[in-house]
Amino acid sequence: MAAASNTRINVTVWHEFRHEKKNPKVAELYPNGMHEAIASALRKSPDLNVRTATLDEPEHGLTKAVVAGTDVFVWWGHMAHKDVADEIVERVYQRVIAGAGLVCLHSGHFSKLFRRLMGTTCDLKWREDPNEREILWVTKSGHPILAGVVDDHFIIDHEEMYGEYFDIPEPDELLLISSFTGGEVFRSGCTWRRGAGKIFYFRPGHETYPTYHNPTVLKIIENGVRWARPEASAAKQTFGNRLMGWVDQKK
Ligand code: ZN
Repeated sequence: MAAASNTRINVTVWHEFRHEKKNPKVAELYPNGMHEAIASALRKSPDLNVRTATLDEPEHGLTKAVVAGTDVFVWWGHMAHKDVADEIVERVYQRVIAGAGLVCLHSGHFSKLFRRLMGTTCDLKWREDPNEREILWVTKSGHPILAGVVDDHFIIDHEEMYGEYFDIPEPDELLLISSFTGGEVFRSGCTWRRGAGKIFYFRPGHETYPTYHNPTVLKIIENGVRWARPEASAAKQTFGNRLMGWVDQKK
């Protein structure tokens, strides 16, 4: 499927938006929700046409029209993965296979959508500790998703730990590896292609930390959106039996 827009990129930032309603600390960090923190940063770019969608809206805000009109999805979920209807997962999955992009954030690794696209458990180790510090090391210098990362690493002072083994298929590209205070390491920036669609997984973003106010993190999400936009050449594909003589009929 071709891009829904030839010039602007139509972005849908999807968020389950539950932690903010239950945990005052999260609500304080993200008074309008994590999706708005991300979306408002993306809206500073005039070529990005950004909308948000959340779990408790009808059809989770992902109606057929919204999904068909989305070039790139940004996805954050954690405590309510199971509440996302299979029908909606299928709808977004098919849109990604047809050429849309997906930027999957943090605990989105366990979403139905990401696991469906990966075909593995996507399980990992984790720990929440106030002394945890994350260093993200660049392993793919010059990659467009890392534009703006000026050093060979960047540091997030407080984050949740995710550790290997991370049960994902071998990434097409490994952009970042994190190291943590506790000693673990993790593949924090990974890309894949599925069908005509492009997928970027980006690790940081635990809800009790101000990670989505971090300019470097927001810049990488923005870069990921641009990288994952549909290819202009993504043609509609047909399948099934073909009868001899179809070439002559086209003449
Ligand atoms: Zn987390």
